[in-house]
Amino acid sequence: MAEATLAPLLREVRACRVCAEALDAGCRPVLRARATARLLIVGQAPGTRVHASGIPWNDPSGERLRAWMALDPARFYDQARVAIIPMGFCYPGRAVNGGDLPPRPECAPLWHGRLLNHLPALDLVLLVGGYAQRHYLGDRAARTVTATVAAWRDALPRFLPLPHPSWRTRGWVRRNPWFEAELVPELRRRVAALAGADATSRAVSPVPDDRPSPLGPVPEA
Ligand code: SF4
Repeated sequence: MAEATLAPLLREVRACRVCAEALDAGCRPVLRARATARLLIVGQAPGTRVHASGIPWNDPSGERLRAWMALDPARFYDQARVAIIPMGFCYPGRAVNGGDLPPRPECAPLWHGRLLNHLPALDLVLLVGGYAQRHYLGDRAARTVTATVAAWRDALPRFLPLPHPSWRTRGWVRRNPWFEAELVPELRRRVAALAGADATSRAVSPVPDDRPSPLGPVPEA
């Protein structure tokens, strides 16, 4: 049943034009989800490449994220196992300093609660970057991404915070060796259990339609 109601919701999301006046590149919501997904990746917002292709994480940041997770593209893009829902679904445009603008603030409050209520099988949510961490951890998010990620054990078992895997992260990883020594092995262990090669039978097993969201009650807006 969750799958049957998720499909029209995804169509509704993909037709969303709420931010049309603010988006120079136009509205193109990029997200993926199936009701059987046990792993959710909440990133930031599409960049230009993702906006052009319509494929989330189809860029060097995605390659780095997949390397951290030890997932090949086939498993990473298997919607039956992995849902991908960023904080802003549409490319927000270019900032005057040359970087991308933040995710549209309308998006997550408008859509995330409704979408999560259609993903009853979720066991783990990867919070990639500060926007996702602040939205989902609330007061439990520290003042910096580094501090939030350093306290990753406190967010488990529901959430696992990660830095955004942009090219800038290479220096950050060198300065924070605990990330690759401690967090990445735990990330890979949990991802393998939910979306790895041996997770097929668990990942696509039927989920009772009335199973409550593992994230607890989620407001619709
Ligand atoms: S960013 Fe989100 S709320 Fe804004 S138009 Fe795109 S889908 Fe709609």
